[in-house]
Amino acid sequence: MAGATMDRIVSLCKRRGFLFQGSELYGGLQGTWDYGPMGVELKNNVKRAWWRANVYERDDMEGLDAAILMNRLVLKYSGHEATFSDPLVDCRKCKRRFRADHADPTEKCSEGGAHNFTEPRPFNLMFKTTVGPIESDDNMAYLRPETAQGIFVNFKNVLDSTNRKLPFGIAQIGKAYRNEITPKNFIFRVREFEQMEIEYFVMPGTDEDWHARWIADRVAWYHHYGIKTENLRQLVQPPEELSHYSKATTDLLYRFFPEREGDKQFEEVEGIANRQDYDLTCHTKGGKTGFKDGSSIPNEHAVLKQTYFDVATNQHLTPYVIEPSGGVDRITLAFLMDAYEEQVLEGGKERTVLHLHPDLAPVKVAVIPLARNKPDMVELAKKIKRNLQATGRLRTLLDDSGNIGKCYARQDEIGTPFCLTVDHQSLEDHQVTVRHRDTMAQERIAIDALERYLEERLR
Ligand code: ATP
Repeated sequence: MAGATMDRIVSLCKRRGFLFQGSELYGGLQGTWDYGPMGVELKNNVKRAWWRANVYERDDMEGLDAAILMNRLVLKYSGHEATFSDPLVDCRKCKRRFRADHADPTEKCSEGGAHNFTEPRPFNLMFKTTVGPIESDDNMAYLRPETAQGIFVNFKNVLDSTNRKLPFGIAQIGKAYRNEITPKNFIFRVREFEQMEIEYFVMPGTDEDWHARWIADRVAWYHHYGIKTENLRQLVQPPEELSHYSKATTDLLYRFFPEREGDKQFEEVEGIANRQDYDLTCHTKGGKTGFKDGSSIPNEHAVLKQTYFDVATNQHLTPYVIEPSGGVDRITLAFLMDAYEEQVLEGGKERTVLHLHPDLAPVKVAVIPLARNKPDMVELAKKIKRNLQATGRLRTLLDDSGNIGKCYARQDEIGTPFCLTVDHQSLEDHQVTVRHRDTMAQERIAIDALERYLEERLR
């Protein structure tokens, strides 16, 4: 039995149509990946599972989908324009550029010997573009580097249109763009990615309690969808590493690099921060953006005050905010890695299987006609597929791509929980063979009873 490594996952993802290098046909575009037929289903299921837990199953949440292109002022007053940068170093010999905290001084330089690095200097990670037909500084806009700012600048809109009372939260899933100096490790660090973020607004004074509750909720979500306890860790950021606006941050770390030594196996999959009233103080009429060095810029552009009227005290106040912020691509990668297993079966046969939670599996059911050249059998298989698909809940695929062994191998590798085989006997007794992904157990089930049988087991 062997588990996942990044290399094994990359190979499986390409082979089975989860992910392809972005713009591959033209040599690729670094830091971009395209989700293939299986990848788009898996990623959509991850997003759906998150939205369901964090919006539908709670009574204190609203959803939002803000624009990716943002007025420059949003990113000025959020502090990103001045400070959203990573330290960059150049090698004087080979001219390559590295993120200073990722640069390995022992790495060999292509020009011979070790690299000869310059002093680090800040490199802003935001992508700029021009809005409208005139290219000028006045028409410059940013692609958002995080979804969070779209939530903060809509706080008052959501509050006024929903009549919410504190505490309540706003959830958003969407693309974010960062011009990472060195994108690497597959979809772990890319330049175009998606985030799933919540800004949860609370009364000042209740923030520590809500922070703890959100950490527990988010950990439970990962475990519910199958992440093994030993592969997920919590890291409470030490005070000296906290961003200046954060009162406390706990990172959830996943074992993305099992081949590394000790703690280096774990890297951030999600961060949960207590951002206090920082963001709403930035984005409000008459507010100000504070920086680490104690300086600040007054907000001279916001057109209204983003405050909350507290009926109990008859006062306007600025809520505190708890932010659980995860990356869809990193979370999807964590689910892929956690589900992956290479098994050696009795008799020495090998198989690779993804034990994905059924809600996440790209395909729930594969219908396989035993003989591709028997029209009756293929027709029956198609009919079963149509009927199951019509439920709207069971993504079903007709798999007549090869012999039965190949079909099973393919479905195991994409994590399909059930395969249904239509054979000669099925035409007579109206039953099919149901094969279970994890146990490989097989049983005969009446076609009429399939929908109920599958729904019960997939729930
Ligand atoms: P890192 O330190 O790894 O660069 P970060 O602390 O800057 O990450 P945040 O700004 O807290 O990340 O973003 C929240 C989440 O968004 C991260 O936990 C991660 O899952 C995801 N994320 C951030 N940057 C990237 C990226 N370049 N590629 C893929 N996912 C990302």
